[in-house]
Amino acid sequence: MSEKNELLSLRYEELESLITAMGEGKFRAKQVFEWLKRGADFDEMTNLSKALREKFRETCLANPVTIHESITSKLDGTEKYLYELPDGNLIEGVRMRYHYGDTLCLSTQVGCRMGCAFCASTLEGCVRSLTPGEMLGQVIAVNRRIEPEGARVHNIVLMGSGEPMDNYDNVVKFLRLLNDPRGLGLSLRNVSLSTCGLVPNMKRFADEGLPVTLSVSLHAPNDEVRKKLMPVANAYSMDELLTACRLYIQKTGRRVIFEYALVRGVNADLACADELAARLRGMQCHVNLIPLNDVKERNLLGPTEEMISAFQKRLEDRHISVTRRREMGDDIQGACGQLRRSRLSQESYGG
Ligand code: SAH
Repeated sequence: MSEKNELLSLRYEELESLITAMGEGKFRAKQVFEWLKRGADFDEMTNLSKALREKFRETCLANPVTIHESITSKLDGTEKYLYELPDGNLIEGVRMRYHYGDTLCLSTQVGCRMGCAFCASTLEGCVRSLTPGEMLGQVIAVNRRIEPEGARVHNIVLMGSGEPMDNYDNVVKFLRLLNDPRGLGLSLRNVSLSTCGLVPNMKRFADEGLPVTLSVSLHAPNDEVRKKLMPVANAYSMDELLTACRLYIQKTGRRVIFEYALVRGVNADLACADELAARLRGMQCHVNLIPLNDVKERNLLGPTEEMISAFQKRLEDRHISVTRRREMGDDIQGACGQLRRSRLSQESYGG
């Protein structure tokens, strides 16, 4: 957030009003919108008059997100970005390269206040929520960076730092901006939103008419185990959460993905797999098993290979659709919050 008017957060019609209020013709909105989606700064907007560019420069901001640093994995080409925001805060993102196109993992907040025991993003709490333009700006900054390779962001996962359902209005506005054919025009079928399970906003979200894939961080087969890992489980029971998921499936016709990070000695034994299978039986869903990335600040360990395979096989035997998440960028601190934290602890940056 900055003092200046952040243009990327504006809907097309809002940009039109701003431009007419500046005494310019409505048609300028089309030109400016076109430039903004390419990540251009005002100096590059050569079809605008110099005077108008100057006016914009004084009062508005074109690019809220700049890539401050990037690291590329030698193993699989995964790229990790550290972005800088107008107020100096740092956030991070990951670009994963699959045969079907590039996927970008976006942050929705600086930090997070959900307090999950295994998550690096939440260790310092939530600094602030991102604006719609700061979410869109991550996509635009990366597109600009990878364009020379002939690449473009095809898929988006809201799985970086932050809880999207804790920044509801900005996330929903961002999704609509992302989808606008006058802007990037990205299909929302290529977007996954991950939530730790803020039930009231999940219910609201089911009525927005946005065809995104809903991922739910479940990580447990019952409330008792879930409470050990996720404080949000004290606010909403698994029954309430699963009811909200069923509502989402019913209203959108789309299956829900359950994320399940295996934590040794907590939720990874076969009794947990059995209980999980029983609870999800008959639901139009898919389970994504994630081997926990050890976070050294916490004393939680990931599973062994044998534990993962046994857990997966048990769910398959119980007819639950399940896959194991491919691990990418293992050599570059690919997991959420890790890079930002390592930079903050070097104390050479603000944030
Ligand atoms: N706040 C949202 C999205 C961000 S995290 C949510 O909770 O869903 C994206 C996924 O990574 C979540 O499923 C989260 O629980 C998981 N995650 C966080 N830290 C992890 C770790 N150390 N190892 C494995 N998965 C982790």
